[in-house]
Amino acid sequence: MSDNPLSSVFIPTKDPPKQSLIETVGITDDGVFIEASSGFGQTGDSIHCHHGIMSAEIGQLSTIPPKDRSLEAVHKYVRNKNSLPKEVFHGGFILSKIDGPLSTGNLVLVDTDPNSNPIVTFNYFKHPQDLRRCVYGIKTIEKIISTNTFSNFTPKDGGYSMEKLLNMSVAANINLIPKHTDDSTSLEQFCRDTVVTIWHYHGGCHVGKVVDQQYKVIGASGLRVIDGSTLSRSPGTNPQATVMMMGRYMGVKILRERLGRAAGV
Ligand SMILES: Cc1cc2nc3c(=O)[nH]c(=O)nc-3n(C[C@H](O)[C@H](O)[C@H](O)COP(=O)(O)OP(=O)(O)OC[C@H]3O[C@@H](n4cnc5c(N)ncnc54)[C@H](O)[C@@H]3O)c2cc1C
Repeated sequence: MSDNPLSSVFIPTKDPPKQSLIETVGITDDGVFIEASSGFGQTGDSIHCHHGIMSAEIGQLSTIPPKDRSLEAVHKYVRNKNSLPKEVFHGGFILSKIDGPLSTGNLVLVDTDPNSNPIVTFNYFKHPQDLRRCVYGIKTIEKIISTNTFSNFTPKDGGYSMEKLLNMSVAANINLIPKHTDDSTSLEQFCRDTVVTIWHYHGGCHVGKVVDQQYKVIGASGLRVIDGSTLSRSPGTNPQATVMMMGRYMGVKILRERLGRAAGV
């Protein structure tokens, strides 16, 4: 299974920008998606709030190895949130996301209880190509920030240097990965230390391995899996619509096979 590694550069702006979730996506030849979001300024209070899966202590556990995913690590992270510099969040961020990462991980069932969560590892940047593409993405963001158009948003005195922005982005601490002193001088280290999931992971139930071409679970009868876990590649685009279409396509196909015209679909 695989997950699209994503790193963000936080950019404080001189005025509060329009609130926007991702509206525009730049797709580079290298398969790096560049996306921007702005206007979700954090108050001191909201930084400390628990935002469910949007909070790193819940939503970004996949970025650290399973052995480090302890309650103690979560509590330590929550304590450290008190010292997050809130000015970092006064603007927006531009992210770099890898389409179809080549690094793969695994899913291990801890036991046969369906209520137990499996242990999932993605091995972000294990494949050098993924790391190279992340560095390319951050360099692309640097080019965007240094354009004249972008200078309209940043403070009048020329804005922040890239090194300062990288330092601020590391300080935003949006995952539980321990940080390094060379995060702003080595883009490779920056990528490794700031990687987050955008929860678009795929795999775990690949066609040909766990399910057959008809999505029937191999070796079990009366059971199909038709969802994101069957995709062999994690696309850069948001997956939900594709997954829903796949479910409907297979549902209609099954009904027609079973009932013919009587299926009414
Ligand atoms: C915070 C967040 C934001 C996202 N934003 C977007 C977005 O903006 N656009 C987009 O396209 N995608 C988005 N996604 C991704 C999208 O939600 C998934 O790609 C999509 O839901 C995958 O569908 P699925 O059917 O494969 O899995 P899921 O929707 O995860 O469905 C799996 C289901 O199986 C159930 N289940 C698990 N284990 C068991 C068990 N043992 N027994 C019975 N049931 C079980 C779960 O409760 C769940 O209902 C987001 C995901 C997250 C987490």
